[in-house]
Amino acid sequence: MANKKVNYNHTPLYREAGFNLKDSETTKKAFADELEHHHEPDNYIYSRYRNPTTVAVEKQLMELEESNWALLVETGMAAIDVAVSIFEKGNETRPWLFFHEIYGGTNSFIDTVLIKRRNRDIHRFYANEGNYDLAALEDMLKKIKPEFIFFEAVSNPMLIVADVKRIIELAKQYSCKIIIDNTFGTPYLWKPLLDGADLVIHSATKYLSGHGNISAGVICGNDTELLKEAIEYRKWAGHFLSPDDAYRLGSQLKSFNLRFKQHCNNALAVAKYLEKHPKIESVLYPGLESHPTRKQALDLFGDKGYSGMITFDIKGTSDEDKRNKLNRFVAALEEHIPLIPTLGEADTILLPVEPVWGAKYPLPGVIRFSVGIEEIDHLISMIEIGLGKV
Ligand SMILES: *Cc1c(COP(=O)(O)O)cnc(C)c1O
Repeated sequence: MANKKVNYNHTPLYREAGFNLKDSETTKKAFADELEHHHEPDNYIYSRYRNPTTVAVEKQLMELEESNWALLVETGMAAIDVAVSIFEKGNETRPWLFFHEIYGGTNSFIDTVLIKRRNRDIHRFYANEGNYDLAALEDMLKKIKPEFIFFEAVSNPMLIVADVKRIIELAKQYSCKIIIDNTFGTPYLWKPLLDGADLVIHSATKYLSGHGNISAGVICGNDTELLKEAIEYRKWAGHFLSPDDAYRLGSQLKSFNLRFKQHCNNALAVAKYLEKHPKIESVLYPGLESHPTRKQALDLFGDKGYSGMITFDIKGTSDEDKRNKLNRFVAALEEHIPLIPTLGEADTILLPVEPVWGAKYPLPGVIRFSVGIEEIDHLISMIEIGLGKV
């Protein structure tokens, strides 16, 4: 029987498109105070502006990120659109600098939206042999004086860990704002705002929701002016997370820390297992001594963990041989570790690198694992099924 006194500790799900403002006085106040009181409990107007369920989950994310504000949007891509668009000042806009080792979708957004449609002056900073040359970065900052730099703490699929503290320091020296996509690092491993970043975004589709059943994105920051710009852009460009998805994200966030700890522990165990396996050529994982940016990973994450992504190369006598072996591995695992092009799910999933990245990473034996939260012995036994067919 329903007991009204029970506190379920869940914010109710408000599906309303618009809210009852009762009278002219309240309406006037709601519209006048709208920007000032974003995270406050009353005077809701219209869900696309602000919704109580969504705001409750934004508060959970503020706690997780230790930020002054958080705004939810419908996807990680929408979060990136909001984060960069608030720096748009028409013809006055200074160049924008993006690292090239970022999510493929972000590179496509830059090409097809920012350059092709908005005609923005975009520069890219390339990695050099699996690492970032910070002297070259400084030269670029000096020369082009960008409005902001945008990068990821842990890159995809090569898992380059950036020397983020030094990069933030450099950017500040040249009055350049800092936007970080921390989808791979997550607030469990690193909170960029505490180290001086201006904005951090996540694809909450990945680890934050963690079950591969919600698309969502979030932008977090501390600066109130940036918050006002972000609210304005989100509202008028129509970026908005549905209250149903916000509600589910809020529930799934409650297990985020537990889940992420398990992702990290499992990934380290799987990386060590693969590194010793005679059928494996090499393993990239920032938790291994052999990783090219191991030092940065230790500096940034200490011993908390190194995320749940592993990239490894199957041994072979030729490109063709590697391709065949990879295909047999993938086929044998279809029922156990499926090929699904996302990451950060509770289940371990895989993605072959060459068919996705093509010319950028033409590596015929290379597979990316998004390691899940399964019981580790069971997980290893599944991987053995695949390796048995190689
Ligand atoms: C998936 C992903 C995105 C895009 O997020 P969506 O929720 O798919 O829009 C952005 N950045 C990184 C690092 C990602 O992995």
